[in-house]
Amino acid sequence: MATLTLKKVKKSFGNTDVIHGVSVDVADGEFIVIVGPSGCGKSTLLRMVAGLETVTSGDILIGGRRVNDEEPMDRDIAMVFQNYALYPHMSVFDNMAYGLKIAKVPRSEIEERVAQAAKLLQLEPYLRRKPRELSGGQRQRVAMGRAIVRKPAVFLFDEPLSNLDAKLRVQMRLEIKALQRELGVTALYVTHDQVEAMTMADRMIVMNGGVADQIGAPLEVYANPATEFVAGFIGSPPTNFLVQGLIGGDGEHRIGIRPEHMRLSGAGAGKLDARAAYSEALGAETLVHVKCADGTQVTVRQDAALDIPEEGSEVGLDWDKPNEMRFDAEGKRL
Ligand code: ADP
Repeated sequence: MATLTLKKVKKSFGNTDVIHGVSVDVADGEFIVIVGPSGCGKSTLLRMVAGLETVTSGDILIGGRRVNDEEPMDRDIAMVFQNYALYPHMSVFDNMAYGLKIAKVPRSEIEERVAQAAKLLQLEPYLRRKPRELSGGQRQRVAMGRAIVRKPAVFLFDEPLSNLDAKLRVQMRLEIKALQRELGVTALYVTHDQVEAMTMADRMIVMNGGVADQIGAPLEVYANPATEFVAGFIGSPPTNFLVQGLIGGDGEHRIGIRPEHMRLSGAGAGKLDARAAYSEALGAETLVHVKCADGTQVTVRQDAALDIPEEGSEVGLDWDKPNEMRFDAEGKRL
């Protein structure tokens, strides 16, 4: 177990800067999720911590020790990959034991550690099987097991659930989170899925084009996004954005309002007139999509018990002032 510190970490590939200086202090035992769209630099950041990419400038510290120049195997980390990277010709036991064998851990200790991990992960019945004889979820657990037996200071996860179907993903994210809690190991977890980030993270780092736009606890980030990008990326359906001009007043800035903070009123009775486009009745709630005069699409999330406007009908849009989030022309929160 250990702290993890990034100090102004930058990465360039040739002339292209892809990480523009990320700093974060991860507490011992904390679960940090790096989240952002494809190409924002999540994997590059994780791979620098793992030692699979060099650091262009800045420092990475694990347990207070600068590791920039250390080989991956000396960093006291264990990584779980998206494709699990299991050896197909080896049994579950041998897959989990392999790293320990390479590290010349005595046989008896290997057996003990693998047995412990197998128990924790409910893999005991499968130790003699080959990876192809396992389900996706079980393979995922073997990859976890291989990381656990190393007793690392830090777990690194690179989109570990993206090969699983939706239901299994939900189950596995609970399992991984519970396991990390139980073991108390500091974790850095990369995903493009904001729901995964919201549900798993103690704190999340929201990446936007190589910049950490915001670092904070999920609900804090949701309630108080630092930038227009974060307001749009975290939360589903995304925040609605209106230009200030549309609702009167001057200024270039844009206003973000979450779908659950929008409500429909009678035509002409709201702050803004719009036309109902289409609706999605999801059971417990309904998403009503409307179009404003300037073409801006707005989503209203309303209780399923409320009336759904007819397609093409005129409606009013209303919301409470305190729920407006204002952003300047650069997308920074005002
Ligand atoms: P993410 O994991 O968020 O999808 P990556 O960290 O993989 O993003 O990539 C960030 C950016 O760096 C992308 O624009 C990608 O094209 C670029 N990149 C990644 N690896 C290399 C490389 N080896 N050489 C050049 N560019 C790279």
